[in-house]
Amino acid sequence: MSSVVCVIGSSNTDMVIKGDKLPAPGETVLGGTFLMNPGGKGANQAVAAARLGAGSQPTRVSFVANVGNDIFGRQALQQFEREGIQTDYVTTDADEPSGVALIGVDSRGENCIMVASGANARLGQAQVAQALKAQTNPAATVVLLQLETPIPTVAYAIQQSYERGMRVMLNPAPAQVLDSAVLACLHVITPNESEAEWLTGVRVTDEASAQQAAQRLHEAGVPNVVITLGARGAYLSTSDGASLIAAPPVTAVDTTAAGDCFNGALAVAIAEGHDLPKAVAFACKAASISVTRMGAQASLPHRHEVDALPY
Ligand code: ATP
Repeated sequence: MSSVVCVIGSSNTDMVIKGDKLPAPGETVLGGTFLMNPGGKGANQAVAAARLGAGSQPTRVSFVANVGNDIFGRQALQQFEREGIQTDYVTTDADEPSGVALIGVDSRGENCIMVASGANARLGQAQVAQALKAQTNPAATVVLLQLETPIPTVAYAIQQSYERGMRVMLNPAPAQVLDSAVLACLHVITPNESEAEWLTGVRVTDEASAQQAAQRLHEAGVPNVVITLGARGAYLSTSDGASLIAAPPVTAVDTTAAGDCFNGALAVAIAEGHDLPKAVAFACKAASISVTRMGAQASLPHRHEVDALPY
């Protein structure tokens, strides 16, 4: 039986205006260019996993999400289906619109983002319960979550998945408080540097501080900690030891969704049965390709591209 990655999370449409400057409150700035992209951490991670799992060891990817009954929701569903993602548990909300992020970017690359979560904020426990019940081989299933959907639903999903014997990965983005009983159900947590600081109070600047932050997360009950460190790669800490796994050297042009690519890739590699050092190295390779390309989902690599990397 093939392995399964079940992503539970958000789907948004990103509407981006690139201009010379960001408006001050009350100001209108003319002259920008407009782009509309599919996004949301959940959707990005599901697409990353689908593209990376369709290799020599196919991994089935399912997505659990809530979209609105509007053009954005329909486009998102079509996009998931084109990527080969199972959408049985992507529901269409009758009352709330699809999630939308309005993003302004100025000439220096500074941005300003407003998100209307819409249907994402109504992802509920019943929907999650049904999706988890449908996983026929829990031991081969990796459940991947982020924090852009309601925290009670995320907490429920983590605890239910754990009780069913699935391995649970949490990308704690954007950082929010989680109960220690929930953290204790995780197989892996994957904060970036700022999320690690937010969760532990330790400012992550080097390997020593990454280990300190990881130690706090171990003390909170998480057995495996992966702190992503941008161009430096990722710091892995487990009961077998800790090490910095270097990112392949590349010329980065746009790091949007690098973290999402990393998480989707890590979930696939864990589902395929690789040990964590190998799985993190695979995720670093995949994410290093994504930063060489513009965009979010547009930048996510396919399996053959990662397998072809010489590192
Ligand atoms: P983002 O918010 O930009 O999606 P993030 O802050 O969640 O990213 P990062 O730690 O910046 O996460 O990056 C995730 C992973 O992407 C890193 O662990 C690394 O493997 C890869 N990566 C990021 N930037 C670079 C880079 N400049 N060169 C190579 N790999 C990179």
